[in-house]
Amino acid sequence: MANRKKIIAGNWKLNKTAGETRSTILELRNKLAGLATRAEVVVFPPFVSLETAVDAARETVLKVGAQNVFWEKSGAYTGEVSVTMLETLGLEFVLLGHSERRVLFGETDATVARRLEAVLDGKLTPIVCVGEVLEERESNRTGEVLERQVGGALRNVAPDHIGRIVVAYEPVWAIGTGKTASPAIANDAHTLIRSSIAAMFGRSAADETSILYGGSVKPENTASLMSESEVDGVLVGGASLDAASFAEVVRAAG
Ligand code: PEP
Repeated sequence: MANRKKIIAGNWKLNKTAGETRSTILELRNKLAGLATRAEVVVFPPFVSLETAVDAARETVLKVGAQNVFWEKSGAYTGEVSVTMLETLGLEFVLLGHSERRVLFGETDATVARRLEAVLDGKLTPIVCVGEVLEERESNRTGEVLERQVGGALRNVAPDHIGRIVVAYEPVWAIGTGKTASPAIANDAHTLIRSSIAAMFGRSAADETSILYGGSVKPENTASLMSESEVDGVLVGGASLDAASFAEVVRAAG
């Protein structure tokens, strides 16, 4: 890994009430206290628990992010939240284009691109998720899919903004299935993603972009994934819900 930002992120999805969020973060702070890591450790609770999460994480190494955001600033958009709303809560990160958003809620590369533009107008760090489904991998279309998703999501990004973007490679067949991509598969996919970024923004911008791996990451497979040259961090779902196992992932990531 070059001089890239190392990030260990926990996506809590539709899990934990505000009270559970507070107790998990307090437990995590204890487990991480004294751990020397140069990684940024971020949790992504549901919207309604974000304020509680920021409060519980205050004066610790832990950062907080949101699982999504809408592109408009305000208006008649029932159920949506804006970038400013997230920023004023004290958040630092936001996930965009998670496969569950794409598969279950109709997100497309075009809507991810609009969200990304809105985020880059503000101060949050976006983590843009991409990844192929099993059928695409089995028909040797992984490269084409990753290129389309990266190209589609980043198409309106100004060259001076590329340095703020983090990408997460999350093969859909590995999410929540217990089937982790092998370190070699992850590394190859990250190389493809970096090449797509290089084609759009140049080699040095691509070399500076952090690319995380996500898909059934656990304490036992973190070190081998992180030992790959192109893997700059992990995005963890299930194993981030329990403070002890997420702390173990952070420890194993080094
Ligand atoms: C995720 O949802 O981003 C994820 C990677 O989930 P899991 O770790 O449970 O596969």
